[in-house]
Amino acid sequence: MITTWWILQGGALAIGLAVGSFWNVAIARLPEGRSLWTPSACEACGHRVRPRDNVPVLSWLWLRGRCRDCGTPFSAVHPLGELLGGMLGLLVFRRFVPDPDAMHAAEIVTAAFAFALVADLVIASYVDIRHRIIPDETSSYAIPVAVAAAAILTAIGAPDPLVVSWKLSVLGAAAGGGFLGLVAWIANWLAGQEALGWGDVKLMGLLGAAFGPLPGAFAVLLLASLLGAAVGLVVTVVARRRVHLPFGPALALSGIVYVFWGLELASILVPGMSRGFTLP
Ligand SMILES: [Zn+2]
Repeated sequence: MITTWWILQGGALAIGLAVGSFWNVAIARLPEGRSLWTPSACEACGHRVRPRDNVPVLSWLWLRGRCRDCGTPFSAVHPLGELLGGMLGLLVFRRFVPDPDAMHAAEIVTAAFAFALVADLVIASYVDIRHRIIPDETSSYAIPVAVAAAAILTAIGAPDPLVVSWKLSVLGAAAGGGFLGLVAWIANWLAGQEALGWGDVKLMGLLGAAFGPLPGAFAVLLLASLLGAAVGLVVTVVARRRVHLPFGPALALSGIVYVFWGLELASILVPGMSRGFTLP
């Protein structure tokens, strides 16, 4: 049992590293509308990256961060992104399968869906920071996937309190996206310009679909607002001028925090709401 559990942790780490390698590609290509499925090539000389040079982290170290063909340096962001993926893969697995006794199919499938969500949120916030846009592929298009995940997880009897029914998932998407949409509409009207983007609204819809309306979407939105206000204040004071920060990363980070400590967070922010409510 214990051996299997360690093997599964190794698997989670390996999948995380591979996903880290994939999101480097997604971050670079999604904003430009390029396909995610064509093989990677060197930006400078156009040579395809050979499979043996595409091993996460190790290839970068082995090639000392350079293209094998032309010697152009590759950014250290690549191996760091892969390491982040591996670390998150392992941590998410351990969050849902903390010991060999919890090693059931339902928990493992929950961990897989949770990691898919975390990976999606990392891509959305990276792209938002670099390009000030949240791709639909990571927000609105992912909402039906989250609803389907809720249905699958409920059907296989996933015991984690984070898992909501598909009805609550649909309600969460409507409530989360609808509420932030209303806030965006009012804020943009008052400011006379785009203060809050529709990408944020769609991402909030996804978070609502993943966690349900209460306490999920509510707790995530509250945390993201506090986080956004705190970081905004610090940056404004340091830069001595008004700086417009993207809200997507605050939403994404709050979503990731909710995956790990959702119920603790909910009971702190909303006393008495740690269990949320259920629909018939
Ligand atoms: Zn090259």
